[in-house]
Amino acid sequence: MTPTPESPFQYKSDELHCEGVPLAKIAAEVGTPVYVYSRSELERAYKSFDAALEGMPHKVCYAVKANSTLGVLAVLAKLGAGADIVSYGELFRWQKAGGDPGKVVFSGVGKTESEMKAALAAGIHAFNVESEEELYVLDQVAQSMKLRARVSLRVNPDVDAGTHPYISTGLKTNKFGITMEECRELARRASKLPGLEIIGVDCHIGSQLIKTAPFADAIARLVALITDLRSDGVHLTHIDIGGGLGIDYGKGDVVPSPAEYGAAVRDALAPLAALGVTLVTEPGRVLVGAAGALVTTVLFRKRNEAKHFTIVDAAMNDLMRPALYGSFHPMKPVAQPGRPDIVTDVVGPICETGDFFARDRNLPELAQGELLWIGAAGAYGAAMASNYNTRPRVPEVLVSGSTYTVIKPRETYEQLIAGERLA
Ligand SMILES: *Cc1c(COP(=O)(O)O)cnc(C)c1O
Repeated sequence: MTPTPESPFQYKSDELHCEGVPLAKIAAEVGTPVYVYSRSELERAYKSFDAALEGMPHKVCYAVKANSTLGVLAVLAKLGAGADIVSYGELFRWQKAGGDPGKVVFSGVGKTESEMKAALAAGIHAFNVESEEELYVLDQVAQSMKLRARVSLRVNPDVDAGTHPYISTGLKTNKFGITMEECRELARRASKLPGLEIIGVDCHIGSQLIKTAPFADAIARLVALITDLRSDGVHLTHIDIGGGLGIDYGKGDVVPSPAEYGAAVRDALAPLAALGVTLVTEPGRVLVGAAGALVTTVLFRKRNEAKHFTIVDAAMNDLMRPALYGSFHPMKPVAQPGRPDIVTDVVGPICETGDFFARDRNLPELAQGELLWIGAAGAYGAAMASNYNTRPRVPEVLVSGSTYTVIKPRETYEQLIAGERLA
């Protein structure tokens, strides 16, 4: 077991810091709610994931949807990461952040023709094609541009990732990918289409996986498919195993380290070792999750016969995971941790019962105006934020050592209504 790396969020003289910067300082200068990311943790996470795959020819294509803020993308692009995108918008962001389009794979069940065109024009590495109809449309689009689109066929390996139903994607009942049975025949047919070059197969079985066995099962199925296709005369050079490695949300789960994940992947890929196949991975959460936190201010407390509530200035539109999946996020007061706990629900101001961050949580009793740290919020936090209840999106800050940069300012009310007009 590799010990969990130390969080970039640590108390120093009873004040919670991100690296060398007190969170209270950021809150005072930028306001709350605010997302705070640690640059050193982003770098550490990327490097340790990449190192875990050492010795296998591989590409790490960061899943942009986990956190698509330019200042975050730029850190990963600079380290040499590729990107897994699910829309043209994400490619637009990736290129604006200095990312290499030649290292991009394009996933998603519903790409439009204009997205295909733009991605082909940018010269992306591969399209992860998820249905037969998509394959024929992509062929036509590429031919119309006198190009050949590199294609990886996304199969649905029908393995249970053992995660939340909303983020499990590798089961027959999910909308993703092509069935194993169809894929062999389809790959043979697709390899004859003039606008396409079939380079590989891929899968993505789900998110927040806390076991390596489902990855190994899925890879075994892709390996068998690649081997079968060789005997059909289709030589694939690319195996994309998606993302999905989980992180520690402070709930007591034991999550595999990237090194353990890498070892399981290496074992499962052993039958392909001599075939010159490149491994592609699409990690999202594991690269950015632990690097980020949402800092919020306690507005009010109240108690009724049943419960104690802590009402904060952040809400489900800023961090949707608890409302969407019932997810658990660790929480700490920003100042003076050593106080007796009370049991409280931490809730936001939105008019929805789903607007909560924690239920029946043991937390040091927070005073009005105090700051609360909501951890492990770097992935699927800011990226899923909305303007629901006409709340401006919150600022995002990147800390590096003892300095920080506002990589996204708080949205203004004018920006929030920009482009709207009366009929
Ligand atoms: C969401 C997604 C990922 C990233 O998943 P994580 O759990 O954040 O690693 C990778 N690939 C595809 C196709 C996805 O949809």
